[in-house]
Amino acid sequence: MRVLTMKSNKDIAELLNEPACEHNKKEKSGCAKPKPGATAGGCAFDGAQIALLPIADVAHIVHGPIACAGSSWDNRGTRSSGAMLYRIGMTTDLTEQDIVMGRAEKRLFHAIKQAVDTYNPPAVFVYNTCVPALIGDDIEAICKAAEERCGVPVVPVDCAGFYGTKNLGNRIAGEAMVKYVVGTREPDPLPAESARPGITVHDVNLVGEYNIAGEFWHVLPLLDELGLRVLCTLSGDARFREVQTMHRAEVNMMVCSKAMINVARKLEKEFGTPWFEGSFYGITDTSQALRDFARVIDDPDLTRRTETLIAREEARIRAELAPWRERLAGKRVLLFTGGVKSWSVISALQDLGMVVVATGTKKSTEEDKARIRELMGPDTQVIEDGSPKALLSIVRDYRADILIAGGRNMYTALKAKIPFLDINQEREFGYAGYQGMLELVRQLALTIESPVWPAVRAPAPWKKAAAA
Ligand code: SF4
Repeated sequence: MRVLTMKSNKDIAELLNEPACEHNKKEKSGCAKPKPGATAGGCAFDGAQIALLPIADVAHIVHGPIACAGSSWDNRGTRSSGAMLYRIGMTTDLTEQDIVMGRAEKRLFHAIKQAVDTYNPPAVFVYNTCVPALIGDDIEAICKAAEERCGVPVVPVDCAGFYGTKNLGNRIAGEAMVKYVVGTREPDPLPAESARPGITVHDVNLVGEYNIAGEFWHVLPLLDELGLRVLCTLSGDARFREVQTMHRAEVNMMVCSKAMINVARKLEKEFGTPWFEGSFYGITDTSQALRDFARVIDDPDLTRRTETLIAREEARIRAELAPWRERLAGKRVLLFTGGVKSWSVISALQDLGMVVVATGTKKSTEEDKARIRELMGPDTQVIEDGSPKALLSIVRDYRADILIAGGRNMYTALKAKIPFLDINQEREFGYAGYQGMLELVRQLALTIESPVWPAVRAPAPWKKAAAA
């Protein structure tokens, strides 16, 4: 008899029930219901892979038809400082033949073996998708057998797309890390040459930091200077051996979103690690995040050094931003990130003296929405309808100078001759930390002031000639 091993309704309900979220009793995880004809956003598999793919030295195998891997691979511009294995897309590429002949599990076992033989990774992650979940592939058992055979950890991530939305996929990914990886190794001792007299080193984690366009490298030197050793960022520029040591951090920071809040809550429950939520977008939020590390760690010397560093960095960056602020202050922004960065980017834009006229909340959690209202006031114009027509009418009605959104809105803006800046995961520039503000302001000014706008908005030369 075949036993179905996919997640049950009870498992999914447990993942959606997140006691650490203050809006838990209300809408679960902020997942928007897909409407026929509208873009649905990613599935649970997409969310899980996005959350874990930045772990750069792991072999990530997508168990399913090739389209699942093709539509989700590398859709986040995350950067690695060394290992590049995560850039190689691996899939079992199931066909009808495999399904009819019952060969899917065998293919998975061989795929794991091939990945290990070819690349010798420290671990293999196997992502389950809709088809093998429906035919009842026991990926947990296959991973276990392959682990014994190959001698490297093989982690099943049971994230079939039909379980739910991208947010749920993030949680499934976090759950898999806590269940199979965290706590399986102790952190390396600190190198003797890194010791600085009078400075106690504290170990910390960041959860939900993806190092998009290498932006976390703007922040890392500040943490180093303060004596905060980052054991792991789940998952930007992370390595498998770092995820294994997450249980030893003194504090966890949830970066920007609560999509992986279950990781922070479980680490607190199982290992007693306190956590706080913060963001590295904008001067105010970056300083607040550094202060929160000091506050939770409760080391008076660290608190004193943190304040000194904040004063120095804020003075430096405000001086460097001054000429740009003059050019951007008062400019009106329509922000449609459609996701978790909504409130943190609003804060960064307000730091620059810009006016956010409206923002999207389509994929924001209830917590994110509350933060937006806090920042923009109760009369906030929130955009639920992200169709091109609705966005353009808001740009016109609110006289927005620029649309800041994800890549899929780029052509909407450009066809309507509206300045556009990509803020989502496909972006080319890192905006985190104090230094990231300088990059953000530079990109905003370059976009708004580009000479292309007056040129494309002016009547075409032949129309001018006809009118004359
Ligand atoms: S919904 Fe299912 S079939 Fe479609 S990409 Fe997601 S996992 Fe693959």
